[in-house]
Amino acid sequence: MHSLSNRSKVVVNKEMTLKEKMYLPAIFGGMMITIKHFFKRKPTIQYPEQKREFSKVYRGRHILKRDEQGRENCTACGLCAVACPAEAISIVAAERKKGEEHLYREEKYAKTYEINMLRCIFCGLCEEACPKDAVYLTEELAPANFDRSNFIFGKDKLVQPIGTSAHPKTYKPYKK
Ligand code: SF4
Ligand code: SF4
Repeated sequence: MHSLSNRSKVVVNKEMTLKEKMYLPAIFGGMMITIKHFFKRKPTIQYPEQKREFSKVYRGRHILKRDEQGRENCTACGLCAVACPAEAISIVAAERKKGEEHLYREEKYAKTYEINMLRCIFCGLCEEACPKDAVYLTEELAPANFDRSNFIFGKDKLVQPIGTSAHPKTYKPYKK
């Protein structure tokens, strides 16, 4: 079949020449390629000791913000979950009880709010959809883990800790 990219090579099963049978020129050619790479600038870095500078528009893991009085902004409206193309967000809403006004800004709040980080594609559409300034993507990487269940981030990992000022772009949940 004709190749669309025009890059395919036709393989011919011809008899090898004496030079090809010795393999030495091919081995030497391979070694030259390897040696050449010793003197080139490395495309890799020694992560995590070294870190690359992220782009200004980098989107990392999420936070659920509190307002200036420490109350959770999220009202469990579900718009972020509807906007999410990866269906990574699940929310269970609850009604605020008397005496909880200092915890939740409005009468409805997210009793559970979970993001499946294995599904998330960090597109930022949840942040755009949120009418309450509640969910933001930070510059922090979602950390690696050996257990799939640890990639379901609940409110314990998402909600901004009380008493911290969490600017979405500088929030570092894993740094003391
Ligand atoms: S960043 Fe995109 S994929 Fe991830 S939870 Fe938000 S909307 Fe879904
Ligand atoms: S994070 Fe925003 S969009 Fe999502 S449920 Fe809460 S208030 Fe609604």
